[in-house]
Amino acid sequence: MSMPPAIEYLEVGASLGEAVLCLKGAELDAALNRIVRDVFRDANVAFRRGKPEEQGTADHVHFVVAPETYYALSGKKGRINEADIAKLNLLASLTAQLFSTRARLDQEQQASTQEQWQQTQIIEHIHESVITMDLAGFIISWNRGAQKLFGYTAEEVIGKNILFLYEEQDSDGELLYDSFLEHGGREMEVRRKKKSGEVFWASLNLSPLCDASGMAIGIIGYLSDITARKDAEQKINHLAYYDALTNLPNRSLFRQLVDNALLQSQRNSSSAAIIFIDLNRFKLINDTLGHDIGNELLRQVAARFQLTLRENDIVARLGSDEFAIALLDINQHFQASMVVQKLLHALNDAFMVAGHELRVGASIGISVFPQDGSEANALLQKADIAMYKAKRGAGNASGSFMFYSDSMNQSMAGRLYLESSMRKALENHEFYLQYQPKVDIKSGKIIGAEALVRWQRPDKGLISPAEFIPVAEETGLILQIDAWVLDTACAQARQWQDNGVMPFRIAVNVSAREFTNNLPVRVKEALQRHQISPEWLELEITESMLMHSAESVIAIMEQITAQGVVLALDDFGTGYSSLSYLKRFPIKTLKIDRSFIQGIPADKNDCAIAGAIILMAKQLNHKVIAEGVETRKQLDFLIRADCDEVQGYLYSRPVSAEQLLVLLNKGFLFKD
Ligand code: C2E
Ligand code: MG
Ligand code: MG
Repeated sequence: MSMPPAIEYLEVGASLGEAVLCLKGAELDAALNRIVRDVFRDANVAFRRGKPEEQGTADHVHFVVAPETYYALSGKKGRINEADIAKLNLLASLTAQLFSTRARLDQEQQASTQEQWQQTQIIEHIHESVITMDLAGFIISWNRGAQKLFGYTAEEVIGKNILFLYEEQDSDGELLYDSFLEHGGREMEVRRKKKSGEVFWASLNLSPLCDASGMAIGIIGYLSDITARKDAEQKINHLAYYDALTNLPNRSLFRQLVDNALLQSQRNSSSAAIIFIDLNRFKLINDTLGHDIGNELLRQVAARFQLTLRENDIVARLGSDEFAIALLDINQHFQASMVVQKLLHALNDAFMVAGHELRVGASIGISVFPQDGSEANALLQKADIAMYKAKRGAGNASGSFMFYSDSMNQSMAGRLYLESSMRKALENHEFYLQYQPKVDIKSGKIIGAEALVRWQRPDKGLISPAEFIPVAEETGLILQIDAWVLDTACAQARQWQDNGVMPFRIAVNVSAREFTNNLPVRVKEALQRHQISPEWLELEITESMLMHSAESVIAIMEQITAQGVVLALDDFGTGYSSLSYLKRFPIKTLKIDRSFIQGIPADKNDCAIAGAIILMAKQLNHKVIAEGVETRKQLDFLIRADCDEVQGYLYSRPVSAEQLLVLLNKGFLFKD
């Protein structure tokens, strides 16, 4: 019994499909032969490969399926009918369709394996390490980048848990599936260990590894070595938070460390002290001996401070010659003052720097937490104010200290105001000069005049130099002020000479800050600018400049005197230099300080000192001038003591240029 044709075709189609799509080569050929013979129930029909040899005849038909394949029916000896032909044709076209489907599928599959192969290659060769692991952290794949980075081959690690690459104390030990699988990729910086044991910084990117249905079945980790970047970051960090010279924390790190510690102190309700240190006369050393020596001195000072302090005290360099220290576990004020005394004591011995024996003292201010403030900034500011007070009050070059008190703050605010208005004063021409005559003690004739700066503030009236010069010296503004004074005094001298006044010596005060290598040139330029002969200029310098008997100080002085300009030592007797020590310096005149003249003749001590200075100075070939002579009795004493010159209210107060001209025209000021 034969099947209905539809079912029969369906069956043929199914077996054809199965054969063409699943089989290849001889197996396919055999299956197609079987099928075609089943359909025709005739062994004369076949599936063949190659080109059909015969032409279609009454005994032979064939239908091409695809190039080089065909179905052929032959050997029926004239019995091939229309139905046979139609059936074979149908079979051939069905097979041809299946062949082309098969070819397309083959092509697609080939493309996709190629793509996969390429991707594997990319991952394999990528420089980054790409590691995949299952959800429990067991390594599934390990590319060459990973091998290069960690030093392990794929065989060594596949199947192991990723944890063995972690740095021992690494806290992110548990894998991070939950949160990151939920939220997608995650990027972090981690520490990992190489086969060599070396630990390094890596940037780690995680993304989920999913199966075809989108289910997470593991994690892909991309790692790259960022050690170089981390090192650079660390260096930058160091630069940002440490002082390059002393390697101590800088101001911003100090503030952070102190603020953190103070939070702790607040919790323990304990006390702390902030110490602000400014070295005395450091700028002088720096300016005269050069920055290399200054720097080395700072390093040595920092080292001595560190040796003096305990481990949990914080020491920082705030800038130039300023240091700050935080004492974090003090119970009482006196503990802070004990530490401060130890710090000052540490500076007692001279520092040896490049063959120089240098001494520096320090001015120290202390503020206390919590009473003076609860933050590093406020405490530093108050310790700074106290330091400033200590410096002002310091009769003692080696050092002094003060605790902050609220009354200091008010005077400090005044000082800051003074500083900012002084800057404006220079621009607004609020400074002017007065001249105080210097008189020859024997003839009473004016032989010179000292230029003294005055500041006329539009809103505040006349400000004494005693008030603003020290602030100008600290802020460095003195350089501009003194340059202006030198130039104005020379210009004035030019004007007098142009008006026919007999030339006389003009003295200009020079601040220690100004006493640097370029002073000789500046003096020369000022003289040239106004066509003043050098012998008519005298520079008054103070004793502090001689403190460090540096060769460079002497060299500067010699360059000045070589031009013909003379040097006088102002306020003599208030400093530390002995007369014999002065021999080393090319100084022509000693100016006895007003404080020794004041007590004459009643104060025997003053008389003895003034007398001795005059006597010894003469023996050493210095001229002597007494300043601040106010009374006839003082003058008499000085005449007897053989003083050369005098200056003081007895003769004249500092006066304007016009008034001085009047005095000069009189010829002499005082006659006995
Ligand atoms: P100094 O150089 O020792 O000047 C002498 C000071 O004594 C002047 O005060 C002068 O007016 C004052 N004086 C003079 N004779 C008498 C007197 O008989 N009795 C009294 N009681 N005082 C007298 P001044 O002008 O107030 O200057 C004070 C200090 O300011 C000066 O001391 C000097 O160190 C500094 N100074 C003044 N002008 C300048 C300047 O242009 N540059 C620099 N760097 N410092 C200056
Ligand atoms: Mg003077
Ligand atoms: Mg003086």
